[in-house]
Amino acid sequence: MLGFPLPYEEELVYSTIARARVHFCIQSPKELLDEVYNDRKVVATIDFPSHLQKIAQHYIARNISVEKLIYRHTLFPLYAPFIPEKRRQQCMEWLRSSSKGSVYLSLGAAASKLPQFDTLRYCPQCVQLQLDKLGECYWQRSWQVFGVECCLLHGQAISTQIPRHSFHRHEYLPATPKICALVHQKTPTLNTLLIAHQVIELLSRRAQVSPTLNQWTQYYKTLIRQCGFNNGENICYPAIKEQVLSTWGKIWLDTHGFRVHDEQSCWLRAICRKHRKSFCYLEHIVLLNSLLDNNWSINQVLEQVAHYPKERNVFVNREKKSENNASSAQRNLWFQSVRKIGPKQARQRQKALYAWLYRHDHDWLLAINNKYKRDRRIINKRVDWPKRDRVIAKAMLGIKNEICENLSAPRLTKNWYLSQISNPASVEKNMHKLPLCNQFFNKYSEGVSEYQTRRLTRTIIRLTRLSEPIVKWKVLRQSGLSEERLRPVTNSVFNYVMEKYG
Ligand SMILES: [Zn+2]
Repeated sequence: MLGFPLPYEEELVYSTIARARVHFCIQSPKELLDEVYNDRKVVATIDFPSHLQKIAQHYIARNISVEKLIYRHTLFPLYAPFIPEKRRQQCMEWLRSSSKGSVYLSLGAAASKLPQFDTLRYCPQCVQLQLDKLGECYWQRSWQVFGVECCLLHGQAISTQIPRHSFHRHEYLPATPKICALVHQKTPTLNTLLIAHQVIELLSRRAQVSPTLNQWTQYYKTLIRQCGFNNGENICYPAIKEQVLSTWGKIWLDTHGFRVHDEQSCWLRAICRKHRKSFCYLEHIVLLNSLLDNNWSINQVLEQVAHYPKERNVFVNREKKSENNASSAQRNLWFQSVRKIGPKQARQRQKALYAWLYRHDHDWLLAINNKYKRDRRIINKRVDWPKRDRVIAKAMLGIKNEICENLSAPRLTKNWYLSQISNPASVEKNMHKLPLCNQFFNKYSEGVSEYQTRRLTRTIIRLTRLSEPIVKWKVLRQSGLSEERLRPVTNSVFNYVMEKYG
C-alpha cells in the first residue's frame, strides 16, 4: 500500500490503520483489511494487535521494525517487564504473526481482574493540539490504559461512544474532532496522577530482557525488610496491608479491583511472598508506591530488580549455616569501606570481597549498598541560569508584544512560545531553574476559553467590516467553533455580544 501513513508519536497501531482508511477514502472495513493485511479475517484490536509483520512491510523504506511497532505503538510494554522472558518472546512472536487471542491470555490481561473500561477515551486538549499541529487527530496509547484516567498535562480523560470491543470486529474507527469534542476536563485525583507517571515511564521503555520470578521475589523480600515490615525471615502482613490501605484508601482499592483482605488468596499476600505467577503493572505500582518514598520510579525499580540472581542458588543456601561466621567478618569489612567511600568505589577497590558477598550474602549487600548510595548527580555549573532566564523571558515578552494585536494568531500556548525560541527542549527541561519564564507562561499562555473568545471576536470584526449581518450560526461556523464546544466564559461573552449586536 503506497503512502501508508506513518504512526505519530505514541499512536496506537489501530489508530494508524484507521487514519489510513480516511486517507485512502476506504468505506468498507473488509476492503481496508484487504489493502492493509491482504487478509479479511484480521480483528481490529486496540491493545495488542497481531500481524504486525504485515504492517512493518508498509514501512520497509522507513526502517520501522516489528519490535519498534510493538514497543512504541501497542500497550505491550506495560506488561512486558512483569512476565517471564520466555513468555515475553512468545508474545512478541504472536504479535508479529497471528495471535488469535493468545497474547491476551498469556499476559493475563483477559483473565485479569482489572475491570476494563468499555469505550475508547481521549484528552480533548491533546486532540486540539494534534489538530493544530498535524491537521488530523489520532488515538494515543496512554488514554487507553486502565488506571490512567487522565492526561498528565490537561486533566481527566473523556470517554467516547466508541466501544473498545466493537460489535463490528473488523472495523477501524478514526479519532475525529466530532467524536473527540472539546469538553471540560475535571482535575485528576492524586492516585490517578501517580499511576499515570509510572505508566508513561513503562510505555517509554524499549525492548529489554524481563526479570525472572526469583528476581521479583528477592527484590520485594529486601524492600519489605528495609521498610521494617518483617519479623525475622517472615513478612509482617498486617503492617503491609495497613500501609497499602493508608496509601490508596479502601474505596479506591475496592473499586479498582485491588481489594486487600486477610485470606491466603489475597493478591497482596501473594506478591509479598515467593512469586509463583506474574503480577500486572498496577499491582506492582500499588505496592511499590506504598513502600517507596515519593520520588520512586518504576525504571529505577526495574534496574534494581535486574541485579538480583536470576535463579535461587540452592548451593549457597545449603552452605549458608557454615559460612555465617565468615559472613559477619566480611560484612564488617564491607560496611567500613562502603560507609567511607560509597558502594561504587568500594566495589572497584575490593573486587574479591564484593564478589564473595554477592554470592553468599546477596540481600544484605544490596540493602547496605542502597543505604550508603552516593548521590552522583553532577551539578552543571557552566550555564548561568539566572542570566538565561532573563534573556529568554525578555525575548518571549518581545514576541508576545509583537503578536498580541494579531487576532489571527494560533493559540498562544506555552508550547507555541517555546517553539519560537531557540533550543526549546533545554528550556522545557530546565523550567525549574527559570522562574521568570515560569511567570511569563503563567501570565501570558492563552487558555482555551481565551482562544475561543479571540476567534469569535475576529469573526465579528470581519463581518462588521463587510457589513454582513451578525448571525449566530455564521459567527460560530466562521470561527470554527460549535455551541457545545464553547467554554462557559466564552459562552457568556458570546451571548452578551449577540444580544447587543446580533
Ligand atoms: Zn492532554
